[in-house]
Amino acid sequence: MRYIDTLAQIYKRNIMTTTDLSLEEIYNLALKTLKFNGCDELNAEAVAHTVTNAERDGSVSHGLFRIPGYIAALKSKKVKGNARPKNNFLTQNAIKVEGDYGFAPTAIGVGIPALVEVTKKHGVGVLTITNTHHFAALWHETEALAENELIGIACTAYKPSVAPAGAKKPLFGTNPISFAWPRKNNTPVVYDMATSTMAMGEVQVAARDGHKVPYGTGLNKDGEKTDNPSEIANGGVLLTFGDYKGSAIAMMIELLAAGLVGDLFSFEAKEADNNDGGPARGGEFIMALSPQLIAGDNWNEHAEKFFDQMKSLEGVRLPGERRHKNRLDSGARNINKELVDKIKSLSE
Ligand code: NDP
Repeated sequence: MRYIDTLAQIYKRNIMTTTDLSLEEIYNLALKTLKFNGCDELNAEAVAHTVTNAERDGSVSHGLFRIPGYIAALKSKKVKGNARPKNNFLTQNAIKVEGDYGFAPTAIGVGIPALVEVTKKHGVGVLTITNTHHFAALWHETEALAENELIGIACTAYKPSVAPAGAKKPLFGTNPISFAWPRKNNTPVVYDMATSTMAMGEVQVAARDGHKVPYGTGLNKDGEKTDNPSEIANGGVLLTFGDYKGSAIAMMIELLAAGLVGDLFSFEAKEADNNDGGPARGGEFIMALSPQLIAGDNWNEHAEKFFDQMKSLEGVRLPGERRHKNRLDSGARNINKELVDKIKSLSE
C-alpha cells in the first residue's frame, strides 16, 4: 500500500467515533427496533439473538450493521414480521421448513430441533428452508448442530454480485457455506465463509470505514481488478476465491440452496426483489451427520488426534477459534456511533 493511502486510512479511522454497548444493550436495541417496525415477539427475539451473538463473536458485518436492512424489509412489507414457519417431513429424515416469508432465524429456530432429532435417529438428516430472507452468518445454524454432537453443513445463495470464473458480470451470490465439526469438551471447529473473495457486508464495512480491500477482491464497473471497496460495491462485481475452483463451489451452492431446495437461484432472487436494502427471498440447504452413528464410539478421540497434528504445525489455528475467543469477553462491544444513532432513529 502507498504511504499516502496508509495515512488516509489512519485519518479516517481516527475520525470514526464509536460507542460502547453491553451485549444486553445490543440485544435490547435490536429487539426494540424490530418490534417498533412490525416484528412480533417471536420474530424479533429470533433476529435480535442472531444479531447479538454476531456482535458477541466479532462477526460485525452481520451484527447491528444489518438492522437497517432488516427494518427496510419490514417497512416495505417484503418480509412478514409475524411469520410462522412450519416443519413438513419430505421423508423420514428430510425436513422442509416453509418460512412463511419471514426472516431466516425464525425458520432456522423451528427446523434445527427437528433436524437434530431425525439425524440422531438415522445418522443423516437434511433440512431445506424455503420462502425466507437470510441476512446473517451461517455459523449460527451449523454450530447449533455441533453443540448437539452432529456435523453441520449449511449454504445459501443470494442476489448476484459475483462473477463466475472468466466472466465480468455477476451471476452468483456471495453464496456462503459453513461446516461445523463437534468436539466433546471443546468448542466445535467451524468454518463459515463466503465463496466470494470477501462477503459483500465486509466490503461495505470497508467502504464505510475507509479501508482498502486486497487487490483483486473484485472488478470495477469497467471490468478491471481493484482494491477500492466502494468501486466494487457500487457498480462493480466481486470475484470468487480461488478462481475457477471457488467458482465451482459457488455453483454447487446455487444448485443445493436453490435447485435442490426448490427456491430462487441468485438471478431469480434479483428479479423477485424490491431492492429495499433488506435481504432478498431465497432458500437454505442444511445437512447434519451423526459421527456417533456413522464413525462409531471412537469418533471424537480420532478427530482430536487430527486436530493435534494440525495445531502442532507452526502458524496454524483452527477455524472458529477467533470467534470463540471473542465470546469469552462478556464486556461491552465497541460499535460505530453513527450506526447506533441511525438504529435509534428507526424507533423514534
Ligand atoms: P472470513 O474470510 O472472515 O472467514 C472465513 C472462515 O475462515 C471463518 O470460519 C474463519 O474463522 C476462518 N479463518 C479466517 N482466518 C483463518 C486462519 N488464519 N486460520 C484458520 N481459519 C481462519 O469470512 P467471509 O468474509 O468469507 O464471510 C463472513 C460471513 O459472511 C460469514 O459468516 C458468512 O456466512 C456471511 N455471509 C452471509 C451471507 C448471507 O447471504 N446470509 C452472504 C455472504 C456471506 P474465524 O471465524 O474463527 O475467524
